[in-house]
Amino acid sequence: MIQRLALIGLGLIGSSIAHAAKRGGLCDEIVGYARSAETRETALELGFIDRATATAAEAVEGADLVILCTPVGTIGTITAEIAASLKPGAILSDVGSVKASVIDQALPHLPKGVHLVPAHPVAGTEQSGPTSGFATLFDGKWCIITPVPGGSPEALKVVEDFWRGLGSNVETMTPEHHDRVLAVTSHIPHLIAYTICGTASDLETVTGSEVITYCAAGFRDFTRIAASDPTMWRDVFLHNREATLEVLGRLTEDLFAMQRAIRKGDGEMLFDQFTRTRAIRRSIIDAGQDTDAPNFGRNSAKPAED
Ligand code: NAP
Repeated sequence: MIQRLALIGLGLIGSSIAHAAKRGGLCDEIVGYARSAETRETALELGFIDRATATAAEAVEGADLVILCTPVGTIGTITAEIAASLKPGAILSDVGSVKASVIDQALPHLPKGVHLVPAHPVAGTEQSGPTSGFATLFDGKWCIITPVPGGSPEALKVVEDFWRGLGSNVETMTPEHHDRVLAVTSHIPHLIAYTICGTASDLETVTGSEVITYCAAGFRDFTRIAASDPTMWRDVFLHNREATLEVLGRLTEDLFAMQRAIRKGDGEMLFDQFTRTRAIRRSIIDAGQDTDAPNFGRNSAKPAED
């Protein structure tokens, strides 16, 4: 049980943590801070925080657990801003999609006696802002914690228990390994979606309105991912440069192999590749990380035909 939880950043992830913490009765009080007064007012109106403050430093005063839920590029500045107001024994955590950079940014400002326990919930949607959060976002999803060398085992346990209380499964790994894994499973897929949507709208032989009107399921699903927050994703690539460049290099080689197979009419190669990838989808469903319902279980939108 945490007495005071402070959330810096009240968008999709910050608000979902607050909703889930309230659902699980994980803390007595949630104090929130976001850059704009509008977001702070919305958070108070929706009732997922108990109190809002005008500065990040005020929000963390007396807090047992502070979670930074802002874009990865802000971590250094915000940690510097709040450092003097963190109480001795407090735990500072975050939810950033990149981990090595977050640690590099936070550690130089960390006061003695404050424990850094970086975390990343592998759960999200393409929505952002304080109205987009919901209590069940983390249910059954993984939260990866990347402990810092020499960090407090007690603080680690508090953060692990907290995420389990939010509904997550918890795993620990090194920040470097986390950044490589997420480059493959999340960062490069987003880059592909951003690129294909850009390419489609730049094509000279197909008009922009045709892309929208005849949008097939394949393209439409890319647009969902490509609608994700530009600030968050700019920061992900700026802060996970090496791992994303490495995976991008491999992907480029594989794309050239596909290009050659299409040019040479190598149906066997294409068929084998598509069969292998179908099995990957099956494994994700078997692991309970997605549904096998048509259209990902979405029932509001009529699926377009491919
Ligand atoms: P979001 O919905 O866009 O919310 C970001 C929040 O941070 C907003 O409340 C924003 O305030 C605030 N903020 C931005 N810059 C700030 C600053 N300099 N000082 C104080 N507050 C600031 O973003 P999100 O999706 O929740 O992402 C937050 C973090 O979670 C990111 O580090 C991201 O990598 C990580 N993450 C995201 C996902 C996902 O699927 N979206 C999944 C896992 C982890 P205003 O509203 O006032 O602008």
